[in-house]
Amino acid sequence: MRIYISADLEGVNGIVHSSQTQPGEPGYERAVALMHQELAAVIKGARSAGATDIYVADAHWDGRNLRHELLPEGVTLLSGWQRPYSMVAGISGKAAAKELCDKPFDGAFFVGYHARAGVACGVLSHTYRAQVFLDVKLNGKSVGEIGLNAALAGFFGVPIGLVTGDDAACQEAIELLGPLPTVAVKKAISRYSAAFMPAQESLESLRHSAVEAMNKRDYWNVYFPPKPSTLQITFFDPAMADGAELLPGVKRCDDRQIEITDEDYSVLFRLFLAAGAIGASRKDPHF
Ligand SMILES: [Zn+2]
Repeated sequence: MRIYISADLEGVNGIVHSSQTQPGEPGYERAVALMHQELAAVIKGARSAGATDIYVADAHWDGRNLRHELLPEGVTLLSGWQRPYSMVAGISGKAAAKELCDKPFDGAFFVGYHARAGVACGVLSHTYRAQVFLDVKLNGKSVGEIGLNAALAGFFGVPIGLVTGDDAACQEAIELLGPLPTVAVKKAISRYSAAFMPAQESLESLRHSAVEAMNKRDYWNVYFPPKPSTLQITFFDPAMADGAELLPGVKRCDDRQIEITDEDYSVLFRLFLAAGAIGASRKDPHF
């Protein structure tokens, strides 16, 4: 069994503030150490229940958080940025033109994930670029990184087997993907506050749920986006929409919103990433 793990940081137990997730800030090194512990627990569980090949995509910030020498032996790390498909780069079994493995992945786990932009009671809730995207709708429904990434996995036929993060992220995953195993390692009290599960208990729960996920493959859901699919993207600043509107196939809906429709979800996903990059370039540092 080949398992792909997309690993984010905001949903890791012990994290409540954006400063903990920023390289160079005081809490960052500890946060990455906690991220490593959670991944080790999930990988241990997955391996004990039949996972043979495990690939971890470092899906936070610039993708240079995890240290390959600290991951369990035999795990391949996808590191760095820019890379096609960002947080789920390589989920099709290929990264850019390179084959990552000789067969596609059997399933994907999302570890350390968080709720979508706009969720008040979700630790560090955001969707990709926190200061660019106010809301992203996929076929009329607001989605975050769980939904956008699960749809790309689904487009390539890869089901999601496990989602971990705070309770808001787990709830979001279950609403979208059905009753799959999730681990709420912390309970959100607000966007910047949470009740942490005792450390050892959460690691044990992650290990145990990875075993459960491997054993309950009936619950693995291929979240296949309909053809065609539509993304409606609302930006914080109309100037960001001005920039994103220049991309081919993009329709301007109103001052803050653009819309893109395509038969091929992987095209939509790439246009979404491009709209984010353009939007970020329009951030006004003073105003
Ligand atoms: Zn994230």
